[in-house]
Amino acid sequence: MSDMYGNPASAPDIPEEDIVDITVIGAGPAGLFTVFSAGIQEMKCRVVDSMPQVGGQLTALYPEKIIYDVPGFPKVVTKELVDQLEEQAAQFSPKIHLNETVVSVRRLEHRMLEVRTSLDNTYYSRSVVIAAGIGAFSPRVPDEELYERLGEEKGAYTCVRDKSKFADKDVVILGGGDSALDWVLGLVDVARSVSLVHRRTNFRAMDHSVSKLKGLSEEGRVKIYTPYSYDSVETDSDGHISSVTIVEGKTDEKVELKCDRMLSLLGFKNDLGPIVEWNLRFEDSSIKVDPDMQTNIPGVFAVGDIAAYPQKIKLILTGFSDASIAVQNCVPYVRPGKKASHVFTSVRGLPADAK
Ligand SMILES: Cc1cc2nc3c(=O)[nH]c(=O)nc-3n(C[C@H](O)[C@H](O)[C@H](O)COP(=O)(O)OP(=O)(O)OC[C@H]3O[C@@H](n4cnc5c(N)ncnc54)[C@H](O)[C@@H]3O)c2cc1C
Repeated sequence: MSDMYGNPASAPDIPEEDIVDITVIGAGPAGLFTVFSAGIQEMKCRVVDSMPQVGGQLTALYPEKIIYDVPGFPKVVTKELVDQLEEQAAQFSPKIHLNETVVSVRRLEHRMLEVRTSLDNTYYSRSVVIAAGIGAFSPRVPDEELYERLGEEKGAYTCVRDKSKFADKDVVILGGGDSALDWVLGLVDVARSVSLVHRRTNFRAMDHSVSKLKGLSEEGRVKIYTPYSYDSVETDSDGHISSVTIVEGKTDEKVELKCDRMLSLLGFKNDLGPIVEWNLRFEDSSIKVDPDMQTNIPGVFAVGDIAAYPQKIKLILTGFSDASIAVQNCVPYVRPGKKASHVFTSVRGLPADAK
C-alpha cells in the first residue's frame, strides 16, 4: 500500500478502546524498550512481530551468546537480556501480537494511522514506531512450496510450540545450530524416534549440547546423519508426511527415514518486505529519521537498526536511546498541545498502571 504520504483516507468510526497511542512494529530490543518508554509516558501501546517469540535478532540469530556491551551488564546471555526486556515492557500490559507481519500503514483523517497485518487484522493507532531491525524474520525451510502446502497439520513444522504434538512420533530434525540441537535434546524423551540431519559434519552449537547429543547417539537414542541434506518427502493417502529422503553430501547416496514430523530448524531469513513500499525515505536499507526520530511521514517514527541518521551505530544500546527519544517526541504528536516531559523514573517512580 503506497498512499501513506498522500491525502489521508477517511477514518471509520473507531471505538476509543480500540485505538492505541503507539503501534510498535518489531519486538526486538529497540521495540521492547519503546513499549517500556511509552509506558512511563502513560501511553497505550501495541506491538506486532512476525516471529513466534520476542527478541528480534537476539532470539533469531544468536540466542545463546554472551553480550559484553550492554551498559550495566559486564556480561549477559542474550536470552536473559530478552527476558529482562520483556518483563520490563510487560509492566504496562501492552497488546502483543506475534507470528503477525505488518503489511501496510496508512494515514487516515484526524491524525489516525491504520495498520494492517498478514493475518488480515486492522489496528488503529495515533502514532507508529517502526523498530523492524533488518526486516521481518521468517524460518528458512528446505522447500517453501512444500511447507506452504503441508503446514503443521500434515507434519511440516518450523518450531515447537507444544511438545505433545511430537509425542510418540518419528521426528526428523533438519539443522545443525543451537536450536536444532536444543530440540533434539528437548524431544528425545517425548518422541518415538529422533533423527538429526545436518549438511556439515560439525555443529554450530554450544559445546555442552554437542557433547550431550554425541552421548545420546552412542546410546542409540538419537540418529545423526552428517553430511546429509534434505532431498524430498513422501506423503500418505491423507497427504501427511510419512517419510523424508535425505542425500549424502559426497556420495549422493540416498536414505529414506520414517517420519511423521519434519522439523526445519535451519535458521531464519530476513526481509524488509512491505516496508519499502510505504513511501518512507530510505538510505541503503535503513529509514532516514530526523533528530526527533520522526520519518518523513508525520506520526511515524523509526528506531534501532532500521533508523538511519548521521553517525548511527547499529547496536542494542543505540536502539534503547532511539526508543526513548522517539517516545518523547510521540507525546506532542499523540496529544496535541502537550509538551514532551522528561521523566526521571527514580524521582517519579512508575505510573500506577505498572504492575
Ligand atoms: C550475530 C550477531 C551478534 C551481535 N552482537 C551484538 C553485540 O554483542 N552487541 C550489540 O549491541 N549488538 C549486537 N548485534 C546487533 C544487535 O543484535 C542489533 O543491533 C539489534 O538486534 C537491533 O535491534 P532492533 O530492535 O532494532 O531490531 P531487531 O533485533 O532486528 O528486531 C526487529 C524485529 O522486527 C520484526 N519485524 C520486521 N519487520 C516486521 C514487520 N513488517 N511486521 C512485524 N514484525 C517485523 C522482526 O521479525 C524482528 O523481530 C549483533 C547482531 C548479530 C547478527
